[in-house]
Amino acid sequence: MAQHDDLSTDILVVGAGASGLPAAIGAARAGAKVICIEEDPVVGGAPSDYYVCLFYGRPITGILAELDHLLKTKYAPTARAQFFLPSGYQRAWRELIAAEPNLHVIPAARAVSVLHRRDSDAVAGVTVEVIPGRTFNISSKVAIDATGSGVVSDLAGCTVMYGRDAKADFGEPHAPDVGDDQVQACTWMYFIQGIPGIEDKPRARAVHVNVGIPARGEDHLPHAEPVLPGETDPELYLQWGCAVECRDTRDPLALAEAHAKAYEVMAPELDRLHENGHTVHLAPRIGVRECRRIRGEYVITENDITGGVFPDDTVAVADYGFDDWRPHRVSEERGNVDEFGAATARYGIPYRALIPQGVNGLLAVGKCMSGTHIAQSSFRVMPIAGSIGQAAGVAAALCAKHNAQPRDLDPEDVRAVLRKKQQHLQLSFDDN
Ligand SMILES: Cc1cc2nc3c(=O)[nH]c(=O)nc-3n(C[C@H](O)[C@H](O)[C@H](O)COP(=O)(O)OP(=O)(O)OC[C@H]3O[C@@H](n4cnc5c(N)ncnc54)[C@H](O)[C@@H]3O)c2cc1C
Repeated sequence: MAQHDDLSTDILVVGAGASGLPAAIGAARAGAKVICIEEDPVVGGAPSDYYVCLFYGRPITGILAELDHLLKTKYAPTARAQFFLPSGYQRAWRELIAAEPNLHVIPAARAVSVLHRRDSDAVAGVTVEVIPGRTFNISSKVAIDATGSGVVSDLAGCTVMYGRDAKADFGEPHAPDVGDDQVQACTWMYFIQGIPGIEDKPRARAVHVNVGIPARGEDHLPHAEPVLPGETDPELYLQWGCAVECRDTRDPLALAEAHAKAYEVMAPELDRLHENGHTVHLAPRIGVRECRRIRGEYVITENDITGGVFPDDTVAVADYGFDDWRPHRVSEERGNVDEFGAATARYGIPYRALIPQGVNGLLAVGKCMSGTHIAQSSFRVMPIAGSIGQAAGVAAALCAKHNAQPRDLDPEDVRAVLRKKQQHLQLSFDDN
């Protein structure tokens, strides 16, 4: 069996998902040597694991805009598709990765512990497990936690937030009086496709689907009304399956319970779909919207987002509502949830929110970045997570070049590189 030698790099990105791949490519284009590890055998994160196969939130910019272009022009399931397929998404990423000589992606490699510098407690890389019990080390000048779960930051000793914050914590109008451990509901997504030859059978309404998006629909996203199987032609649909609460999204056994619970709710529905002429392609895993959030030098709050705050150290911009799949609001009838849905403004992501409090050698990006439970329900979507990741990649590359810690960088230097042609990240909405 192959032995893995220890490796060394400028930048180590842990997690090849919506935020990790833009981080890795952004850092590579900024001149750093980059290794990106991914615990799955394939890259992609949420679209590969959970079948989250369309972008919500704006802007789609920078490296994610390049990906989006490939998805639309080369890898779309049909000419007018309103979503992509996991396979197309993985192929588009592979094409972008292959164009970066400074970037080495290692799949099927899970970070299991964190290395620290000898002379300080700064993060100096991770230990990777490929086969249970067989490990190797990757040392880095800067590591980026793009795991979605924040597990690397947790292992590094960062302050971790989990669940709902109390109103008094950050002064948020929609926070509960008392904080608790509840996170946004999980959803098990799937594709269905009509089987040719039996399309004249009556099609049952799907009771546990709250949105279905046909691959050849005429409308723009999102549909004003949910499109349910049976109400449209037998095409390929992306379905949001039932939503379930998970008692602890940090715990794989609790996630397995949530999976089982979702399966129980969805089984009759899946049988009916099958009987009525649909094939069903269930995502490999139930979709986890929220796990740990890392406490950073700045914590983004509901007030920042509703107030449309663009801090001086803005390194990414965001436009998406509060999509808070509320705990305790899962309806028995439809497996659906009542979304929080308060109005938001466009806002800026401060560089400080990427820097874990009190820990050097590390940046945290994507859905585990520093924000409250409510704020995270807005910035967690893929276009915004992608911009945040790319900004972190550039910042990490500058740190490696100048032998500096992330907290010592001038955010203006990061912004200057992000505006360059090979990054072209949109940093304001002035031009829209
Ligand atoms: C059900 C559901 C529906 C959603 N709908 C939409 C939508 O319609 N549009 C939209 O834009 N967003 C949507 N989102 C949100 C979006 O998918 C995520 O918030 C986004 O993907 C977050 O990006 P990320 O990089 O933080 O995490 P991810 O994309 O999850 O990537 C994290 C990666 O890190 C890897 N990883 C984890 N731990 C380790 C480790 N120890 N070592 C190595 N690798 C590791 C994982 O395998 C994964 O590939 C949805 C999310 C869910 C769950």
